[in-house]
Amino acid sequence: MPDGATPPTRLPPFTAAQTLNSKFIPSVLIVGAGIGGITLALDLDEAGLTNWINSQWTETHPDHREIQRYWADIVRTQGLTNRLRLQHDYIKAEWDAAQNVYHVTLRDLVNDKEVVYDCNVLVCATGAFSEPNRIPLEGEDAFEGKVVHAARWPRDMSVESLRDKNVVVVGNGCSGVQIIGTLGLDPRIKMTALARGQQWFMPSSNGGIKASRNSAPNSEQLRAIRARWPILQRLHRWIFLALADQRFYYQWAKSGEKARKKIERDIGAWMVARAPPNLKDKIVPNFPFQAKRYIFEDGYFAAINQPQNRAVYGRIAGLTPTGVLTDDNEEIPADVVVLSTGYAADHIDMQVDGENDSTRNYDGKGDLVYYHGIALPGMPNYYTMMGNNFLVNHSSVTEVLEIQASYITQVLVAMRDNNIPKLEVKKAAAKAYDNHIAAQLELTTWPLVNNYWRKGGSGRIFTHYPGPISQQWWDNAWPVWADYTGGEKLARRQKIRKILFALLLLVGGTVGGAKLWAAGAPQSLVSAGGEVAQWLVGVVSQIAQRLHLK
Ligand SMILES: Cc1cc2nc3c(=O)[nH]c(=O)nc-3n(C[C@H](O)[C@H](O)[C@H](O)COP(=O)(O)OP(=O)(O)OC[C@H]3O[C@@H](n4cnc5c(N)ncnc54)[C@H](O)[C@@H]3O)c2cc1C
Repeated sequence: MPDGATPPTRLPPFTAAQTLNSKFIPSVLIVGAGIGGITLALDLDEAGLTNWINSQWTETHPDHREIQRYWADIVRTQGLTNRLRLQHDYIKAEWDAAQNVYHVTLRDLVNDKEVVYDCNVLVCATGAFSEPNRIPLEGEDAFEGKVVHAARWPRDMSVESLRDKNVVVVGNGCSGVQIIGTLGLDPRIKMTALARGQQWFMPSSNGGIKASRNSAPNSEQLRAIRARWPILQRLHRWIFLALADQRFYYQWAKSGEKARKKIERDIGAWMVARAPPNLKDKIVPNFPFQAKRYIFEDGYFAAINQPQNRAVYGRIAGLTPTGVLTDDNEEIPADVVVLSTGYAADHIDMQVDGENDSTRNYDGKGDLVYYHGIALPGMPNYYTMMGNNFLVNHSSVTEVLEIQASYITQVLVAMRDNNIPKLEVKKAAAKAYDNHIAAQLELTTWPLVNNYWRKGGSGRIFTHYPGPISQQWWDNAWPVWADYTGGEKLARRQKIRKILFALLLLVGGTVGGAKLWAAGAPQSLVSAGGEVAQWLVGVVSQIAQRLHLK
């Protein structure tokens, strides 16, 4: 601390570490109150609850107002409000080995002062897309208009306020396309869509509710049915996830190639048919389908075909006082420049000094080796919900967050139930996991493109999990305690359960086989097979439940 500076206020923890009925109750501080942070808080309250199911979504892809209302209602109704500290910016955390706590320094933005909280467990849930990737623009100081990033949209900048203005939207990723599809359909906005490269676009599957959005209405009748039988909502979710997982197939570089070529032909022709004349021979990407996230077009084609608008390929080279300069030396007039240039996903959001390591020792997220995208060696009791290689390319991030929240909850419940004050993932386990992920990544099409998924734009892919969600769930369904220092007792119990499980499986298999034989194998094998398989699944799932394997 500099000489003369006011020392930070030291506050009691939200919930002090306690001993209750001789159980250690760890105090937990979660940084970030987005979907991930709230899901984890709910899980911890319920110790195991996942899959928030809302039967009342008005459409398949509701807009931000409805999503925000839903989460705000959850915070209010589930008793999280008094434990929430809004307007606090995380600054740093230091592990105190003598007390097994992190001293966490935050800046209270309302009172403009530093405060320190102590906690046994620290969780980073600050999101992968919180910080904009703000590219430096030569000439910005002299630019007479306004430059905004999609992630920092000014609250007072409505579509109406942009009428009779020249707007240049830079970027054609998921955010850019939604902005283009909204601003570009207003005939009084003159929009130029500038993009440095192509994208694979998919048709929006709208149900007619809003002209171009990829969303379909959920009728009141459907919502009432789902509210009456929540299992249907759950089923719908599983089907959605299964369909999304099935699309992962295109991302396997070799085995998915044939299917990929076919879809590339079909979607390529669909895109060419919708492209404006100047883009027809340029619009189809030269990288494989799904090597980047495909994009629901959300009104993009309608917008760039409007007579007042234009779409061009090129890079923004800088700004003149009245426009955008491209790398082709073209000047595009601009009153407002919207940067949809992605997110700073590769830098380290949280400065954490652990027992034997610190995030300060690394240049960026791409250098860190997170075990299962969640835990870091050298940093006991520290978990993150957006460590490397955990996002998915083809499915819902919400599902990913639920998987992580469930994993972290299991770890904390085990600490509580077994009086473990400190758990730390082993370096060797983290390295082995990282090697496995790196090898799997090589099997996908992703190494064929460069983007902000990579460290510095072209280094190691550090954001994405190389497999479908179902595999990710399986990989993270329960912690492997042998990988944790401090988890030795749990590891022994896990080993015994595994042996028991294998034995019971063997016995079950033998009895099942005998039953099959008695049913008249081989001629009635087919009819008896279904019955036996069903019986076996029942036995196995009962055993798994009793052994708390799930
Ligand atoms: C434009 C856009 C569209 C998306 N669409 C989808 C979609 O359709 N489906 C989907 O599944 N995912 C989508 N995503 C991904 C989306 O990021 C996640 O689904 C979800 O928001 C992630 O939740 P989170 O809690 O991890 O992060 P966030 O929702 O980003 O929450 C992180 C929180 O941490 C806070 N925070 C960050 N840094 C600090 C700090 N230093 N101190 C204190 N607090 C901090 C932030 O203010 C924020 O409140 C989209 C993302 C973007 C940007």
